[in-house]
Amino acid sequence: MTVKTILVRKGNAVVTIDPTATVTAAAKLLGEHGIGAVVVTSADGHTIGIISERDIVKALAARGGAGLDAPVSEIMTRKVVTCTQQDTIGELMKQMTEGHFRHVPVIEQDRLVGIVSIGDVVKSRLEQMEQESDALRDYIRTA
Ligand code: AMP
Repeated sequence: MTVKTILVRKGNAVVTIDPTATVTAAAKLLGEHGIGAVVVTSADGHTIGIISERDIVKALAARGGAGLDAPVSEIMTRKVVTCTQQDTIGELMKQMTEGHFRHVPVIEQDRLVGIVSIGDVVKSRLEQMEQESDALRDYIRTA
């Protein structure tokens, strides 16, 4: 199963933010969309960072309420690990586990075409396991 399988179901929408926006604006986006991370893009649409709920919590712990007024560019992660639609879910799980993050933007020909969260990965793995056990049950019943 590939990343494309997940995107076909969930769509290509990605919530993005400008690096000059405040941390408050990022927190608002996370809350409004019920998500854990937003991708930071430049004016020409390139991915230049990612900011997740963890970065916001860290900024608040370090700077108190003043952290909310900081620009996203100050606290975002700049070295973003991305994947393509052709990558397998297994490869994605490995990246997330080794990198200790739960979101991976999907890039195709330098263009942001989606984002996969650990929730999406777990959901697709569970469905795959159910399909496999159904197939095994059918096989045993008809053998
Ligand atoms: P998360 O588990 O996604 O909330 O992110 C935990 C930390 O990893 C935060 O500092 C994020 O900015 C960072 N992070 C999230 N996704 C990625 C990614 N795809 N590549 C690199 N860093 C990431």
